[in-house]
Amino acid sequence: MVKAIILCCDNCRDRYCIGCQRCFTAAREGKGEFEKFDKVDIVGLVGCGGCPGYIVPKIKLFNKWIEGLDDYDTVFIGKCIVVANEKGNCPYGDVNKIKEMIEKTFGKQVVVGTHPW
Ligand code: SF4
Ligand code: SF4
Repeated sequence: MVKAIILCCDNCRDRYCIGCQRCFTAAREGKGEFEKFDKVDIVGLVGCGGCPGYIVPKIKLFNKWIEGLDDYDTVFIGKCIVVANEKGNCPYGDVNKIKEMIEKTFGKQVVVGTHPW
């Protein structure tokens, strides 16, 4: 089992993906990128902080917030962020750079993508 957070695009959350229901459903049912693991326990949904992107400070803030509570080992980069980089104008420009940045800064396992829909 992995304990994970989902990282999401603040421009998409609750605008194009209402209530983040798709990622939570996929995580619960083991669909999409969650299929790679026998069980995924989502401990948090963390926004990117909005354009131009504050992913590192937002994760630092989240890590501070959960001190003494549920820790996690894996970061799923939401499909919203993948689409924002591949088809939109996300200032990061490359989701693999976001992956490397999180791995290097926080030493967590990072999975690109989430739900299959
Ligand atoms: S892709 Fe997932 S994390 Fe991103 S907005 Fe949609 S449901 Fe939320
Ligand atoms: S486009 Fe990129 S930086 Fe802007 S809100 Fe979405 S993920 Fe964050």
